[in-house]
Amino acid sequence: MKSVTHPLFTDITGNKIGITTYEIGKGEPILYLQGGIHGGEVTFFIFHEIAKYLISIENQLNFKILLVPMVNPMAWNQQFYHYTAGKFNSIDGIDFNRNFSDHNYTNDVRYNMSLESKMANIIIEMATPYKILLDLHTARQSKPYLYVEHKSYKNFAEFLNFKMNIVDPLQETQRAATDFSTYFTQKYQNSKYAFTVECGSHDELNIENINEVKTRIILLINELNNNKFEFLKTKHQNNSIFLEPVKWIHAHDSCFVKFEKQSGDSVNKGDKLATIYDINHLGTSEKIYSDGSYMVIENTKSTIYRAGSKMIWLGIKLSDW
Ligand SMILES: [Zn+2]
Repeated sequence: MKSVTHPLFTDITGNKIGITTYEIGKGEPILYLQGGIHGGEVTFFIFHEIAKYLISIENQLNFKILLVPMVNPMAWNQQFYHYTAGKFNSIDGIDFNRNFSDHNYTNDVRYNMSLESKMANIIIEMATPYKILLDLHTARQSKPYLYVEHKSYKNFAEFLNFKMNIVDPLQETQRAATDFSTYFTQKYQNSKYAFTVECGSHDELNIENINEVKTRIILLINELNNNKFEFLKTKHQNNSIFLEPVKWIHAHDSCFVKFEKQSGDSVNKGDKLATIYDINHLGTSEKIYSDGSYMVIENTKSTIYRAGSKMIWLGIKLSDW
């Protein structure tokens, strides 16, 4: 395994900070695997498992894989009392994953380059030779799921066979209308396979979740190694669920919350979603009921809610799309 560090910046104390990558295999560059663009989204253990596997098959590997487990050095030092934040730049509030503007990929002097744009450029440079790009994240409180942002990815998603998949065409249109696209998906539509994978909940070590993501990625590595892209020519039977996000349940008022359903649970009309407690009604509680049939995509990872905050994300199962 060949390790390279791409210089990113020098910090105020003079230390040089860079992005470290690990290349393995020989031949055509096919799989680019990235994690850690957001601080506290611990996908490190998945990279650890995949690296262990790749080292064990290094001599038989007939294509190139690039592992970038901690792509954003700025994000991981944003800690507040044992909580690693690092989703937004604390200076300008911009999501670290929303710096992939087309402006960044020119040498046009009208656009002064921020550090985040520089990072985005290095990412694009690293990823460009590869055909499949997987960007590993974690969600709030969630089971692993694959984010399928483009219809042409359907067959690929069915092959990967994550138990839960989110199909988000609305997101696709919103992104097309904005300057700041998320990751590569917009840039590479139709030319590459670029997926975001939510690997579980923020800052957790969950063996079941780690195993699911690791297993799906190793399946892909083995298939590419044996049959290259043949799997895209056939239809895949699977037991995956494809969900379209429908709505967030927001807190009506500030409250404490106990969730009654978790990520991946099905709910019917009238089922209890959560119990809420507020200080003005001390000693009592109130239930929130589902108004229809859904599946819970995520809960927000907290028990403390300000009025209007997102609490529960619901989706509906798609039979075809
Ligand atoms: Zn993220």
